[in-house]
Amino acid sequence: MAAALAALRVGFGVQLFERAPEVRAAGNILNLWPPPQKVLKLIGVDTDDLGAPCHAYFHNAKGRLRADVRLPDEVVAEYGGGFIGLLRSGLYNRMLDAVPPGVLRLGRDVARIDDHGDGVRLTFSDGAVEEADVVIGADGINSFVRRQLWGEEPIRRQFLHLVGGYLFLDEAPEGVGILSHDRTTQVSYTPIRHEGKWGYEWWVLEAFRPDDPLPTDLVEFCRVRARGFPQRVRDLIEATPPEHMQRWEIRDRPPLKQWSKGRVTLVGDAAHPTSPYAAYGAGMSIEDGYFLARELDAIDVRDAAAVAGALQRYEDRRKPHTFKVTQGAYFTGRMFHHLPAPLRPLRDFVFDHTPFLQKMVGDDMPVHILSQLAEIEDAEPFVPVHKRMKEAAE
Ligand SMILES: Cc1cc2nc3c(=O)[nH]c(=O)nc-3n(C[C@H](O)[C@H](O)[C@H](O)COP(=O)(O)OP(=O)(O)OC[C@H]3O[C@@H](n4cnc5c(N)ncnc54)[C@H](O)[C@@H]3O)c2cc1C
Repeated sequence: MAAALAALRVGFGVQLFERAPEVRAAGNILNLWPPPQKVLKLIGVDTDDLGAPCHAYFHNAKGRLRADVRLPDEVVAEYGGGFIGLLRSGLYNRMLDAVPPGVLRLGRDVARIDDHGDGVRLTFSDGAVEEADVVIGADGINSFVRRQLWGEEPIRRQFLHLVGGYLFLDEAPEGVGILSHDRTTQVSYTPIRHEGKWGYEWWVLEAFRPDDPLPTDLVEFCRVRARGFPQRVRDLIEATPPEHMQRWEIRDRPPLKQWSKGRVTLVGDAAHPTSPYAAYGAGMSIEDGYFLARELDAIDVRDAAAVAGALQRYEDRRKPHTFKVTQGAYFTGRMFHHLPAPLRPLRDFVFDHTPFLQKMVGDDMPVHILSQLAEIEDAEPFVPVHKRMKEAAE
């Protein structure tokens, strides 16, 4: 949706093909860093009161501070904290509201792509055919478009899984998120804001063995693992309705050397699936769409060589950033959950008594976030035509 909105903003005609028969958020909890928030605003998404402000801290399970994720005051003031906490469905609804009628085509499963030089022919599983100047594969970790361009490659199973949940509260939470780890497990929470309601999201994350049975009782799974963690997060888990809890296995793929070919490229998880350890996969998908549209806007899309050049410039810009985030998230997950048992006390001593973690997640990550923010133009937010007409009618 972000790629479509960004392309609409610069004047392209866009069709967004989704194979599902309806738009439904796959998942619940979400955090967004400032750069995707800036892009969303630019491409016409209403970001007002989109999520709960959150200043994030890393703690050990006993509550000892290990890192403070510090962003400059002016960024915190403009983007509501280090990052914001929200529900995925809330973001989808805001984005859908910005998508003009007729752009999103549901129940359209892309089954074949033929780049014939002058354009690209899309064939759907029901046999229907569409033509386009450029095709953007925004089709997630199991991307069909990626497979067709670059062949089949196995998904990287990290043997980590998490249970995430959320609950609503009557009062505004304090704008603080605590990400805590003990020797094997992460138990974390951040505030959320969803359609005018305050609340919290939380997650319990740890390694599993391939032959472990899947947890059947998610409440009990979390309760047992959170035992050694502060009362605050245990209370949140206890107060969460079971239907607000979900389990995911964490998977990604090693970085892809080349994303684009001819008139076809990839964005988001199709290009660089990202472990939730970064809290940035959706954010980077949003950014990708924006940077891609900017490159396409600068050329004549009828010219195949110009399209190939624009797609290459787009991916060359995006690869260092997405590489750093996806690999950083992968190795952070390994460091916290897959280190051999004898090394864990040493790791935790370093995290508790040296500035290592502060430097890594408290200082370096914000610097990286700010570098992304600076790459996004400062411009008036785009108002899609259907919203302009609606506003005029009101
Ligand atoms: C537990 C968990 C927590 C996370 N937390 C965060 C977070 O806090 N912050 C953050 O930024 N990210 C987070 N992420 C990552 C984020 O969810 C993903 O990076 C993001 O959803 C990727 O978006 P996407 O649009 O690229 O792909 P997807 O969201 O996977 O969307 C792909 C779409 O393509 C459609 N599709 C697939 N194949 C076809 C086809 N052949 N034809 C037509 N349509 C097709 C699918 O139906 C789907 O709708 C988290 C992920 C998980 C699992």
